Amino acid sequence: MHRSDHTDDPRGDEAGELERARGLLRRADRVLVLTGAGVSVASGMPTFRGEEGLWKDHRPEELATPGAFARDPRTVWEWYGWRREKARECAPNAAHRWLARWCLADAGVELVTQNVDDLHGRALEGEAEPGGEAAEALDRARPVELHGNLFRARCTGCGWRGELRSRVDASSAASLPRCRECRELLRPDVVWFGESLDAGILERAAAAADRAGACLVVGTSAAVQPAASLATRAARGGAALVEVNPEATPLTRAAHVALRADAARAVPALLRPLVGGEP
Ligand code: NAD
Ligand code: ZN
Repeated sequence: MHRSDHTDDPRGDEAGELERARGLLRRADRVLVLTGAGVSVASGMPTFRGEEGLWKDHRPEELATPGAFARDPRTVWEWYGWRREKARECAPNAAHRWLARWCLADAGVELVTQNVDDLHGRALEGEAEPGGEAAEALDRARPVELHGNLFRARCTGCGWRGELRSRVDASSAASLPRCRECRELLRPDVVWFGESLDAGILERAAAAADRAGACLVVGTSAAVQPAASLATRAARGGAALVEVNPEATPLTRAAHVALRADAARAVPALLRPLVGGEP
């Protein structure tokens, strides 16, 4: 076979890159997985960038702010209601499922996400086996949610935080969800533009970055801080960097392997030989 026959074969190249990436992940005792909106695209969740991310001509930067909620909580809740129902209609894709299996099977894998869509959590629930020991593995495998979760809320009065799964009625100011304890308005338990991340959560994520021997970054533009800095922090500490993204990002140049592919295709191909089985 001519040399060129081999190098011109894109699948041959891709298989080689996948194997290189797998080798890096296999060698590490601890792996930080960092995911962003791109991991949920194949499930039908729009990213913020691009037309799909718009809602009634509003940009997310106009609605996902404390100022917008103070001025017009009904409109902000209406938007979150739309995003919650959109997320509910979506199902975890193969990337979520294989990442969930990996986290359940290997206590050294820690998943940190910027996503608020709950799809990693739902994939975990779907993959976990019933029973006491499995419940422990499930708890350990739960993702660190840097930016919160669409299906959680917190009270603007007393600070109560918890799940809010039922449908939100944002048809009038009077019907918005209120705190059971103090009757003040609830707000989505997500981090808005201009707000800082929860210190405890950021600490957990930073600790995961510091102990990681490898870092797998999936579907994030690496434009939102401090989330993106977790990958560079891990790399500075010596972690091998593997990126899955159809487009180049600020992290691509630092990546040991950059797989330019859809997460729902590349992540299963990458992880199947590491985890085994078929979800
Ligand atoms: P982003 O929108 O800035 O970037 C998405 C990245 O995904 C891009 O780099 C894009 O090239 C890549 N991508 C697109 N399709 C892909 C695919 N099929 N497979 C793999 N990658 C793909 O998203 P971000 O970096 O997560 O930051 C956006 C912010 O918006 C975060 O704070 C996040 O909380 C929020 N957000 C969350 C969701 C969600 O929960 N699903 C959706 C939109 C925005
Ligand atoms: Zn309250």
